Amino acid sequence: MRMSFGLTFKRTAKVHWRANFSQQCSLRSTGLFVPPSPPLDPEKVKELQRFITLSKRLLVMTGAGISTESGIPDYRSEKVGLYARTDRRPIQHGDFVRSAPVRQRYWARNFVGWPQFSSRQPNPAHWALSNWERLGKLHWLVTQNVDALHTKAGSQRLTELHGCMHRVLCLDCGEQTPRGVLQERFQVLNPTWSAEAHGLAPDGDVFLTEEEVQSFQVPSCSQCGGPLKPDVVFFGDTVKPDKVDFVHKRVKEADSLLVVGSSLQVYSGYRFILTAREKKLPIVILNIGPTRSDDLASLKLDSRCGELLPLIDPR
Ligand SMILES: [Zn+2]
Repeated sequence: MRMSFGLTFKRTAKVHWRANFSQQCSLRSTGLFVPPSPPLDPEKVKELQRFITLSKRLLVMTGAGISTESGIPDYRSEKVGLYARTDRRPIQHGDFVRSAPVRQRYWARNFVGWPQFSSRQPNPAHWALSNWERLGKLHWLVTQNVDALHTKAGSQRLTELHGCMHRVLCLDCGEQTPRGVLQERFQVLNPTWSAEAHGLAPDGDVFLTEEEVQSFQVPSCSQCGGPLKPDVVFFGDTVKPDKVDFVHKRVKEADSLLVVGSSLQVYSGYRFILTAREKKLPIVILNIGPTRSDDLASLKLDSRCGELLPLIDPR
């Protein structure tokens, strides 16, 4: 699949995309970011169907594994995850808040990655979950992803546990703005800036050299002049307590829990599995590769989300 990057850069900012970047884009349709998985096991598919049929108030929790089939790599998958392929690590909240140079580097990279990242589309797994909601099967959907793909697929009974890259927050006054508006401000401030981009991370980050970063101008809040941050929970930060309470309540109302595409390594999502276990809810996990809660699952499937979920009849 070929993608156009010229749309949001206009003629003012010259961005040269290296061959390896466009190669990643063309490979995404062939599953560069999706770990290899065994063929579907018809018996397990039947078991999953039975589980879904019996569920009356199903809570679904999704992670990066549901978005790899949309061309967004995850961090932790063996061989194809960002940790396995590169030495890149996600930004830490404390570094971002404390250091203007760190913010400059972050935003320069995010500016370059944004046209790609924001153009990603839901895959059949996102559409299936949205359909389950429409048919009354889904009690609530909790996602650890910040890519807005559930929203793009039309899901509404949704909590974005770690926020969303499509919103920007002022660290001083809390003003929220759409990320697309910030992209235009970046372009105005950096009319002749150019950079070469390599790779794309789950949060839209790409790699740039120090020279490329240092000449990049970062706008501040248009209301108060404060520093801007994506409205997402970075590593090292915590989810707001009222959001955690809200999800705990939805879990307690649920009668079953399905995990889709998460290794559950991050505590912010794992804690809801513990709540579900306390309530003795049946737990099913769909994830390629081991998870932190395999021993708690009554059924574990190592299949592609976009291949399996559309096979399930939610009625
Ligand atoms: Zn502000």
